Amino acid sequence: MLKHFITNNHQFKPADPEYRQVYLINGMLLGMVVVFTFFFFVNLAFFALYSVALLDFIGAALAATLLRRFQLSNNVRQGANHTVMLLGGFLLGYLYFAAPHFYSLYWQCIFPPLAFFLLGRRRGLIATGLFLGFLILLLVWRSASWPVDSFTIESLLNVALASICLVLLVHYYEVSRNDVLRALATQHRQLQRLSVTDTLTGLYNRSKLDDILSQEIARSIRHQSPFSVILADLDFFKSVNDNFGHMAGDQVLMSFAGIMSQHCRELDVPGRWGGEEFLIICPHTDITGAKLLAERIRVAVAEYDFVHGKQLTVSLGVASFIRDDDANTILKRADDALYRAKGKGRNRVEM
Ligand code: GH3
Ligand code: MG
Ligand code: MG
Repeated sequence: MLKHFITNNHQFKPADPEYRQVYLINGMLLGMVVVFTFFFFVNLAFFALYSVALLDFIGAALAATLLRRFQLSNNVRQGANHTVMLLGGFLLGYLYFAAPHFYSLYWQCIFPPLAFFLLGRRRGLIATGLFLGFLILLLVWRSASWPVDSFTIESLLNVALASICLVLLVHYYEVSRNDVLRALATQHRQLQRLSVTDTLTGLYNRSKLDDILSQEIARSIRHQSPFSVILADLDFFKSVNDNFGHMAGDQVLMSFAGIMSQHCRELDVPGRWGGEEFLIICPHTDITGAKLLAERIRVAVAEYDFVHGKQLTVSLGVASFIRDDDANTILKRADDALYRAKGKGRNRVEM
């Protein structure tokens, strides 16, 4: 129930960067509704402080309105602005009414950390600067209510230096938090790229091809548009390894990946299916189009000088999506076609 409320009806998930901000905005606004309402009754019933009670009432109503608005809009930037402004107003109001009791000054310390956390470094710094400016104005304005000691050079210097230290520390804390977040985001992107890439050729790996194939099947069923796959396998590739070594074999695989990428259109997705077998997924392409592409790749490979000037050929099997296909059935047809191409003497395209 509380979790439901504090995450805006689960609109924000723990992995979202704003998750903790949402938590704090809801928590602070709810806290202010409770505190203002409590003091409204206390001031009204026990102290007969009607003007303060009125301010409490306005504070509670404002906090409740902003809370409701945030819960409906999910606008984190706006919610953060509202929370910081309301808290700033509340703290300064408290200072005004609690004077000359020094403990009201202590409460002002909670503003900078909250402002930096909710608004970020730059806007947090501006908000804190404004807040401290108002605070000084208020102190000067109300100086008659404060003990004389509060306004000696020594105590003012101490307050100013302590405030600057606090702001610098919170700013530094926010900078390091941002650095960590950025580093994590970069690492996450790198890991994501690695998890879908074949390290030797730089093409998509099998697991990514599986994902794309499933998406393509779903899309074809929904929009009834064609798509095709091409399975390619280098002929007598083992002899490259045997005669020139594994490194030369790797070089050939990289060159072959380059040839495929060069001949594919922008929408086609070439990837490494495993070993020296490659798969190309061709969206919006019927069997004729896919066969043409396969033929272009076959000719390009046959004309290419691989490492050590070696000539190689490739066999390709083509299959197009038909009704009731799943990933296994369409791949099976492409594999069967490839097998036929090998059987008929290699360096061929079959479908
Ligand atoms: P076919 O014409 O029937 O396809 O003959 P082939 O020799 O190409 O087929 P086979 O499946 O017998 O051999 C494939 C070889 O590919 C065997 C394996 O050592 C090699 N291979 C698989 N992955 C890699 C790789 O990453 N690097 C290198 N250098 N070789 C690889
Ligand atoms: Mg093979
Ligand atoms: Mg082979």
